[in-house]
Amino acid sequence: MPYAKKHKKKKEKERAKKRKLNGEFKKYYRKRDTSDWNKGAKNPSWKGGITPRNIKIRNSKEYKLWRESVFKRDNWTCIWCGQVSGNLNADHIKPFALFPELRFAIDNGRTLCLDCHKTTESYGRSKTNKKGVKIWKHK
Ligand SMILES: [Zn+2]
Repeated sequence: MPYAKKHKKKKEKERAKKRKLNGEFKKYYRKRDTSDWNKGAKNPSWKGGITPRNIKIRNSKEYKLWRESVFKRDNWTCIWCGQVSGNLNADHIKPFALFPELRFAIDNGRTLCLDCHKTTESYGRSKTNKKGVKIWKHK
């Protein structure tokens, strides 16, 4: 059937066009996302969402750079117990969610091993202890 053949070809063409458009669309949004983060981090009035924007930030290039810089300054050593390397966390001295303007400030970061990090008030602040009382409180 010549008609069906022709029709099929047209459909394939359209699909290829859509694929192309989709690729460009994704590229555009990747670019846009990054500039939005930069704007947000630099804007002091930007409070930042709790989720999923914070998750996005934690996975961002800026955040990874911040962690690296904190580790480097502290020589990959837990500043509390002196553990070197291993399971190290970069902790925000002033909580990430409450001080969005300090989230990439090296001075607001400290290197803690996982065990020490767990003893901070801000660690897992969304969780509650066995009595159902919120562990984290803002000083
Ligand atoms: Zn430690």
